Amino acid sequence: MAAAAAVKVQEVREVTRIERIGAHSHIRGLGLDDGLEPRHVSQGMVGQLTARRAAGVVLEMIKEGKIAGRAILLAGQPGTGKTAIAMAMAQALGIDTPFTSMAGSEIYSLEMSKTEALTQAIRKSIGVRIKEETEIIEGEVVEIQVDRPATGVGAKVGKLTLKTTEMETIYDLGNKMIESLMKEKVQAGDVVTIDKATGKISRLGRSFTRARDYDATGPQTRFVQCPEGELQKRKEVVHTVTLHEIDVINSRTHGFLALFSGDTGEIKAEVREQINAKVAEWREEGKAEIVPGVLFIDEVHMLDIECFSFLNRALENEMAPVVIMATNRGITRIRGTNYKSPHGIPIDLLDRMVIVSTSPYQEKDLKEILKIRCEEEDCEMSDDALTVLTRIALETSLRYAIQLITTASLVCRKRKGNEVNIEDVKRVYSLFLDESRSTQFLKEYQDEFMF
Ligand code: ATP
Repeated sequence: MAAAAAVKVQEVREVTRIERIGAHSHIRGLGLDDGLEPRHVSQGMVGQLTARRAAGVVLEMIKEGKIAGRAILLAGQPGTGKTAIAMAMAQALGIDTPFTSMAGSEIYSLEMSKTEALTQAIRKSIGVRIKEETEIIEGEVVEIQVDRPATGVGAKVGKLTLKTTEMETIYDLGNKMIESLMKEKVQAGDVVTIDKATGKISRLGRSFTRARDYDATGPQTRFVQCPEGELQKRKEVVHTVTLHEIDVINSRTHGFLALFSGDTGEIKAEVREQINAKVAEWREEGKAEIVPGVLFIDEVHMLDIECFSFLNRALENEMAPVVIMATNRGITRIRGTNYKSPHGIPIDLLDRMVIVSTSPYQEKDLKEILKIRCEEEDCEMSDDALTVLTRIALETSLRYAIQLITTASLVCRKRKGNEVNIEDVKRVYSLFLDESRSTQFLKEYQDEFMF
């Protein structure tokens, strides 16, 4: 059942990837080179080098499964790219590693308790990679992993992609295929699609043929043995579902639909216990493995003391995800107490966190970010208008300046212009107030407002 759901869930994720232009849609990754050094401008990311470097190291550890159950705090002034960095990490992890993003305030709802909301968020961030064997349907395109090279040299696993109808005759391809493999310079570990009729390789990849020691192909193209019989009828399918998805599917009659509506309500403790036991069983049998993902909690100072205490404990669980938190608060009151603490987070939780700080941007970086946003929003802007907008960002906030791109672009379109100019920027600057001008306005006219 879980596996059936997994296929669907995958589809949903793919749909959501066709994103609207959102606040962070220009971010495609952390923009690091192979040595994990940040390039100044890369993958939509600009500057903030120390934080990006730190995030890169964290990412690497997540990928290697070394820091499950740890907490990272991104701390810095508003608009310094904390959320952007978290989003970049999500992009770099790929869809197989669960990434859940929430704001601290989301735990306050009438439908479920705070701890239930946190538990769901945590279980959404723990993946279960389930391996299943199914029958191959005629004509289906499959990828098969074959172990054990015939020669025993460099025991690498080979992969072959082909249609099942072609399988019976794969052995007959013989020399035709070998010729192609040599011509295409197939490397160890590649994947190939082989045309049954001609033996031509249409997609490059590592291939195999019958048990055969084929030294003539050289060390890089080694054929591996195909276990006969079994292989031709079965395939191994791997799905990654989250623990939360398994919980939901098993907690209601129409649980599966609840995954789409998000209307899951509270999930009973017994259901979770059963699921945990089942997953533990699958793990023992080698049918499943746990993929600790990432839970990102923005505006973490919105959590209260009960939530912090709950999180502190949850992090000790062996399946716990990596929790990344972000806050723009300095020393402030911990919600639910009268105590003040750095970032509004209790000291004992802070103590187990790795803190990554972000710093305010220089004018040059602001200009670069605004330029990238203009491209993202398909907005042509003259260089001097961009300079004015950068000044606005410096004096008000980056976020406000980003908002002006969309509005200025509309104003430009209205006057049938092709390029946003200084006048358009000035126009929207006067139409829409930033935070400090709005405060100023309120101060001047406060007597005319209701108390
Ligand atoms: P807050 O504390 O107010 O939540 P934040 O630190 O999370 O702020 P972001 O929301 O990440 O700030 O940044 C504001 C906007 O600027 C976003 O659209 C973000 O994508 C963009 N941005 C911030 N920093 C960078 C950067 N280094 N490179 C590219 N874009 C950035």
